[in-house]
Amino acid sequence: MSTLFISDLHLCPTRPAINRVFFDFLRGPAAQAEALYILGDLFEYWAGDDDDDEFNATVLAALHELTVNGVALYLMHGNRDFLIGERFATATDARLLSDPTLIDLYGTPTLLMHGDTLCTDDVKYQAFRAQVREPVWQRAFLSQPLAARKQTIAGLRAQSTQEKALKTEAIMDVTGAAVATALRSHDYPRLIHGHTHRPALHHHTVDGHACERWVLGDWYSRGSYLHCDAHGCHVVNLS
Ligand code: MN
Repeated sequence: MSTLFISDLHLCPTRPAINRVFFDFLRGPAAQAEALYILGDLFEYWAGDDDDDEFNATVLAALHELTVNGVALYLMHGNRDFLIGERFATATDARLLSDPTLIDLYGTPTLLMHGDTLCTDDVKYQAFRAQVREPVWQRAFLSQPLAARKQTIAGLRAQSTQEKALKTEAIMDVTGAAVATALRSHDYPRLIHGHTHRPALHHHTVDGHACERWVLGDWYSRGSYLHCDAHGCHVVNLS
């Protein structure tokens, strides 16, 4: 038995090659697994569950095919697709996870996060995140017509691209303090997260406890997933 983890696919209709890799992944390795965890930023953006254009519908159908075939599907919000809601969950039979979530992974306590909350040096982003995660803000935003929401998101994406060019690499990475706090407050588990697009296995020692931190890769130039079973975890790269 195995459990797979992916994040930061940033799926969008304009990248057909990586979309094909994703659909092949769902019908291949994911279909053989016991469970698939998507730890945020499955989509480049998500304007609301009512955005049922052809591309989104295709992705939802592929995810539903996976769960129909008996694979448990779990989804955590990323900073791009935090508006994924109950309608999406019902259509795919996915379970939405809060961030962070602690699971027992074949006997090893494992903490799952998207990873953006660990980037505490980016004060401006954390303020934005706090605002857009407010239920009141989300209700107001989702009450706007879909076209207006898409326009707002396009503006935010352009602004984010501009700001990222000015931010230092360090500001956009996790801080050691935030990682230590997360590990300490969950009794020193293994940690799996994405978001930073810096795939790696880090070894942390917190209060004398050794903890693994697996950072998942993005799907910009190729796909990849983390395969975990009772023996541990390893990365598998897809072409
Ligand atoms: Mn992200």
